[in-house]
This record gives sequence, structure tokens and C-alpha cells, in this order.
Amino acid sequence: MPNLLKSASETNILIVDDTPDNLRLLAKILESQGYIIRKSLNGRMALQAASRHPPDLILLDINMPEMNGYEVCQRLKISKITDQIPIIFISALDQINDKLQAFELGGQDYITKPFEEVEVLMRVKNQLLIKQQYQQLLEQNQRLEDEIKQRLKAEAEVRELSLTDELTGLNNRRGFFWQANQQFKILQRIQMFCCVLFVDIDGLKQINDSLGHEVGDRMILDTAQLLKQTFRDSDIIARLGGDEFVILVHVQSRNTDEIYPRLQANINRFNQEHNYPYQLSISVGVSQSVLNENVSLEQLIEEADQLMYEDKRAKRLVDH
Ligand code: GH3
Ligand code: MG
Repeated sequence: MPNLLKSASETNILIVDDTPDNLRLLAKILESQGYIIRKSLNGRMALQAASRHPPDLILLDINMPEMNGYEVCQRLKISKITDQIPIIFISALDQINDKLQAFELGGQDYITKPFEEVEVLMRVKNQLLIKQQYQQLLEQNQRLEDEIKQRLKAEAEVRELSLTDELTGLNNRRGFFWQANQQFKILQRIQMFCCVLFVDIDGLKQINDSLGHEVGDRMILDTAQLLKQTFRDSDIIARLGGDEFVILVHVQSRNTDEIYPRLQANINRFNQEHNYPYQLSISVGVSQSVLNENVSLEQLIEEADQLMYEDKRAKRLVDH
């Protein structure tokens, strides 16, 4: 740990004693070491001084009129501003019960009067050292915590970037498999029914050639938007690349027949609402299965891909 201990001249000590002579003597001893000393003649003044400018340490007499040292200590310990200030009781009371009470109330040390000068200095030095080491530990922990937070944030950002398709903001291929593989294991374990859609835009090349690449991009973006509208946030939607999309849909029942029509209805509505010089059209393949260890995600995607081509072929037969 780096040595960042405060020097004596930066160290502020509050002495509380109702006997002016005691105050003067203690102040003189500590000032001789370079400490900055403040003095209070009673508990009320001490509490005010401590909360206005919290000192590094308090030397606290016990027997005082109005408010004794125990009470001052209690009040210091219940305030957030002053509860961390170490307190050394300094008292003519030398019974073990007096000392015990002082420690129970949160005092760090206890010096009996009459005291030896060197003893006071050693005990003061000790408490200051403990306090500052504790402070350093807290600061170090805070720095570590901040560093970890920053690193986690940076990692999350990198992961997000590497898993996201730039054009549509959907998952890219890596993002899809990253998410889907995690879910797939859970779905397999509970033998959940699930379905995969493979989507490919029809005739995008021709759109690019005739209307320009930007219009082609627009078509990809519109398709992404329509997929987002059609499926739930919990479903995994991805652009695998080019004009290919894949969706892992969680279904409650085995009735997946309504999924494609729902998507198709959204596309029809989109085409009606937008007066574009082209009609958005997609081909879709749907594969489905109860998930168990015999079924892989790749298999389901492959099957959906095949079915998508059949869909496309069937359309071509109709078209031509
Ligand atoms: P099909 O009906 O058989 O699907 O034909 P297609 O014209 O849609 O062509 P295909 O699916 O075989 O290939 C996808 C085409 O999409 C190839 C490329 O010209 C175009 N494409 C791929 N990525 C992008 C992109 O990011 N932006 C644009 N504008 N076009 C893209
Ligand atoms: Mg296509």
C-alpha cells in the first residue's frame, strides 16, 4: 500500500475537557509534535465543532458538567458526519467498568489521568495510523470496484458490438447462436416445443439493380422491423447475413400454423400502407420440434432453410 499518511501538520485533533488547565497541557503536548489542535470546554461545543469540521481524532474527558464524555461519544457515533472519528477517552476514572463502558460506546482507546506524556503521544499516533490505514483500504476498495465496473461495461459494449448486425440492430449470426445456444440447452432440458423460421427476401438483387442499393437496404430494414413487430422480445431474431433472417420462436402449444400467416398479414398490411415502387415479399421456412438431446439447433435451421427454398420455388412456379 502506498504510504499516503497525513503529516502531523495536516492532522486535526479536538480535545474536550472542562478543566482549562488540562486542555492547555494536552494541547501543548500535541502541538509540540506539530498537530493542529482545537479545544472544547464542554460537550455541546465539542459536538458543534466536530460536526462543523470533523477532526481526525478526539480526546474526550468523561467527567464534565451538563453532558459527560459518554454522552458526547454516543452522539458522535449516531451521526453520519462524525461516526468514523476515533475517540480516545482520557479520564481520572480508572475503574474497569468505566473503561468497559467507554469501549462499549465505541471509544477506541482509554488513557487514565494522570498520564505520561509519551503514552498520550503513542496512543494518539496509533489511532491516527489505524484510522488512515482504514481510510486507505476503503479508497482502494472503491478504486477496485470502479475499475471492475468500468471493465464490465467495456466488455459488455464489445460483446454487444460483436453480436449485433450494424444495419438492422438485430442479432448477427454470432449473436443469434450466442443467445440461442444458451436458451436451447434449457429448452432441451425441459423438452420444450420450439420452432425456427428461416426468412429470405424475394428478388432483392433485382431491387438493388433497378432501384439502387439504398432501396435494397431499406427493404432489409423494413423486413427487420416487420419481424420485430411480429415476434416477441423473448424470441430471438437475427439477420444471418445478406437478406437472410432467422427467428427462434418459443411456442406454448404445438400449433405453429398461425405464425407464418401472421407474418404474411403484417407484410400485406405494410405493402398497403406504403406506396413504394416495389412490393415487399419474403419466403419463409418453418421447422419445429420438441427439443431433446436428439435435436440440434443447426438441424432445425437447416430444415427451415430447405423449407424456405421450397416456398421460394413454389412461388416461382406460380409467378412464371
Ligand atoms: P431470391 O428471390 O432467390 O432470394 O433472390 P435475391 O435477389 O433475393 O437474391 P439472394 O437471396 O440469392 O441473395 C441476396 C441478395 O441480396 C444478394 C445481394 O445482392 C443482396 N444483398 C445482400 N446484402 C445486402 C445488403 O446489405 N444491402 C443490399 N442492398 N443488398 C444486399
Ligand atoms: Mg433473397
